[in-house]
Amino acid sequence: MIKIAIDGPGGAGKSTVARAVAAKMGIVYVDTGALYRTIGYYVKQQNIDPADREAVAACLGGINIQISYVEGKQHVFLNGEDMGDKIRTPEMSMYASAVSAIPAVRAFLLDTQRDIAARNSVIMDGRDIGTVILPDADVKIFLTASEECRARRRYDELVAKGQKVAFEDVLNEMNQRDKQDSIREVAPTAAADDAVLLDNTDMTFEQTVDAVIALAEKAQNK
Ligand code: C5P
Repeated sequence: MIKIAIDGPGGAGKSTVARAVAAKMGIVYVDTGALYRTIGYYVKQQNIDPADREAVAACLGGINIQISYVEGKQHVFLNGEDMGDKIRTPEMSMYASAVSAIPAVRAFLLDTQRDIAARNSVIMDGRDIGTVILPDADVKIFLTASEECRARRRYDELVAKGQKVAFEDVLNEMNQRDKQDSIREVAPTAAADDAVLLDNTDMTFEQTVDAVIALAEKAQNK
């Protein structure tokens, strides 16, 4: 069993890198952002203000989240409904960021994340995996890149999905969300003390994947 934690700001490539590493190593890729996005989706559906901590906390009782993995792809079900790409919009990013700052939301998702890691070898990406969710992870990586580079990747990703967005808006949204995520009181985006800092601004995707696998192999051979 191996547990790999990848944290970092938006657009660093955490999810694409983690997905590729998982496929190469034959382990499970857990996208924890999808869980916060799912709660954001429910909050919007219920017409609740995502900044209203009490109202958000009170609505959690109506949420049942199930996760399944089909051919390496994670599916998140909200009360039986497969979230698919519905949670992948810029609006849902902001909802996720707002609800993720609420302690009750983080507590609600804690066991779900730890249970998956207890039952499988995983590479889990998020903001607080190395610091809070899996403090005993075998490998902890804080993946980052320059602001311009991260915004460009996020922009290209959205355009490839057919979404009409302006680069400036993507950059501003990314910065606002990263700031919000890193200054919040509970579980802010942070590198664990024992995390390896990996800046992939000047690295290709393959080089980043190889670097993560090398760190995992090193940990396994210890
Ligand atoms: O990674 P992704 O962009 O899908 O995450 C959406 C939002 O969910 C982040 O901006 C962050 O606010 C929140 N999040 C979090 N902790 C995690 C993963 C995501 O707070 N482990």
